[in-house]
Amino acid sequence: MLKVPVFYYHSIGNRGPETLEISEFRKHLELIRQQGFKAITFSELLALEAHDSGRYVVLTFDDGLLDNFENAAPILSEYGYKATFFVIPGFDQVIRWVNPKTRAWSESQFDGFSIPFPSMQKHHRRQLFESGMEIGCHTMNHPKLNAIPEHRLQIEISDSKALLEDQVGSEITSFCYPKGRYNEMILDRVRTAGYLGACTTMPAYYRNDTPKFECGRFLVEDHRIYRKILEWASPVSQWTDPLCTMLQIPLKLKNTYF
Ligand SMILES: [Zn+2]
Repeated sequence: MLKVPVFYYHSIGNRGPETLEISEFRKHLELIRQQGFKAITFSELLALEAHDSGRYVVLTFDDGLLDNFENAAPILSEYGYKATFFVIPGFDQVIRWVNPKTRAWSESQFDGFSIPFPSMQKHHRRQLFESGMEIGCHTMNHPKLNAIPEHRLQIEISDSKALLEDQVGSEITSFCYPKGRYNEMILDRVRTAGYLGACTTMPAYYRNDTPKFECGRFLVEDHRIYRKILEWASPVSQWTDPLCTMLQIPLKLKNTYF
């Protein structure tokens, strides 16, 4: 019976406050190793047999930030871990900026937005793929898919897939909804575009009965909670539901599902 924790990250090892320090990231990977989990990609997760009794964990990185390539990937390789990078191919020329006081993000450098977050380029994505990582699609331009005109869904869901496939030279089968926003119609468009599954931002373990286009994930930066999520991946743990409910609260309060 499967019960797999899927984690998601954004920036690793840039300047704070909107980044995860490398030392903390290493603690996460160390916990995975100590507890005997195997890190697999999101597409490998979807392909597991229902009766598989292995201990798996899935690490995903949203938004295609250059620091994922520069900081996270080398450490993952050091540990021999695979991961899935949900990238935004329309953002190659976009630098995102963070305001350290408000912790807000912007795609333009307004007053107070002083920390730059450059984006990965196509050669970075290809290099990640060639090193054994999975490249997943996080749309072309990262809009809230439930807030754009329907005709733009083709660009965001299908054209982005074709572009990434051309760039990495392989099929792209995993999708991630920006800021976790989707509805039935969008889910259907993602499915018919040829993806095999999609990630949301709601905290949940992946189980045998998880709908493949609504896979929850954990956004957890504190290694103490991270440890608990790994421990409670045991199928008999009773704490799973209260944990998932508790972790939804800060996401709802901030109204940011990334
Ligand atoms: Zn995102």
